[in-house]
Amino acid sequence: MAQVRSTPSTRVTQETRLIRAGAHDGELVKTVGPPIQKGSTVLLPNAAALYDDDSFLTYGRAGLAAHDALRQALSEMEGAAGVCLYPSGLSAVTGAVLAVLQAGDEVLAADNIYKPSRRFCDNVLKRYGIGVRYFDPRLSPEALLDLTGERTRLIMMESPGSLTFEMMDLAAVAELAKAKGVLTLTDNTWGAGYLFKPLEHGVDISVQALTKYVGGHSDVFMGSAAARDPALVHQLAEGVHNLGWSVSADDAYQMLRGLRTLPARLKAQGESGLRIATWLAAQPEVAEVIHPALPGAADHALWARDYSGACGLFGFALKGGTPQAADAFLDALKLFGLGFSWGGFESLAIVSDPQLGKRKFAPTYDGPLMRLHIGLETEQDLMADLRRGLDAFSAAR
Ligand SMILES: *Cc1c(COP(=O)(O)O)cnc(C)c1O
Repeated sequence: MAQVRSTPSTRVTQETRLIRAGAHDGELVKTVGPPIQKGSTVLLPNAAALYDDDSFLTYGRAGLAAHDALRQALSEMEGAAGVCLYPSGLSAVTGAVLAVLQAGDEVLAADNIYKPSRRFCDNVLKRYGIGVRYFDPRLSPEALLDLTGERTRLIMMESPGSLTFEMMDLAAVAELAKAKGVLTLTDNTWGAGYLFKPLEHGVDISVQALTKYVGGHSDVFMGSAAARDPALVHQLAEGVHNLGWSVSADDAYQMLRGLRTLPARLKAQGESGLRIATWLAAQPEVAEVIHPALPGAADHALWARDYSGACGLFGFALKGGTPQAADAFLDALKLFGLGFSWGGFESLAIVSDPQLGKRKFAPTYDGPLMRLHIGLETEQDLMADLRRGLDAFSAAR
């Protein structure tokens, strides 16, 4: 019979034996995915290892096997020297920003950044003595860099923005910013770290809400920040350590599982989204479709230069109509869910106007601004659903 390690049955009580029995000790068989290793305590081999931070991971908060596997896979995708994980997409933005700034610095933030990122800038950064100025994402890179001052330390961008879809020439901004010693960060959730790789274009920090396309099933929160400069990776990791954030091994495993099908899902959803966008543009109730991959779109050339494909998220403006008529459109939909977030396998719709209130440079449209996320359902079914919505809009307009 196998001996229980360090608890010889003749010397300890049954309680002690039960408390210590079954502790894993030894090699694991190999599976396709990493082990979901769970632990706050990391058992160290000897006393010297307890305080030897250079050689051993001494505490589970920094992540174990599944986290390592996910970070490695994301580094590979982003072309990064290292990737940090955060408990949500928003905390990846806030954590990365906090890691590189100090009191007295100033941030230039694109006016179209994710609304909760803006709230963080206004409610937290300003309170800690960090200046924030918003710029029109339609500014040329040169005009943007002309806005920088002595204190400007970081330019925060999101391209395309997730409601109005303006794109920026990130490569040009990154090059000019580097020459001035200003860091660049972009929220690349639309590109998912796959369709567009910010670090390859010179951007210093690539952030994304893994919650969206990498997770892909609308059921796990996580974010990542990636960088190429090892000193910056270290600074980001220190930031996570200082704030005490951690993600669970189960969630890290789920994220890695999502990553395996990311290319297939993005291809299907992006192509289907573009066909639906093309169809929508021809509907009489639609004033404008806002999708950078659509030929003739304002940002088409930039998208074609930098992206290997599109995701399934885009906007469109209705032709005239009241907010009530926009609600009639949404309420008539049977397949599209009404809900925030995106990047899952399912189609979603929202009206975007109520989120544009705080913006200084929001574009204006003929009618209500809608946002669609195209999932993996059959295009014909989705188009029939949208037609039903447009009919209801027409009747209510
Ligand atoms: C959803 C989203 C986030 C935040 O991600 P969470 O995981 O929900 O916190 C950040 N940026 C963009 C562009 C998003 O769409």
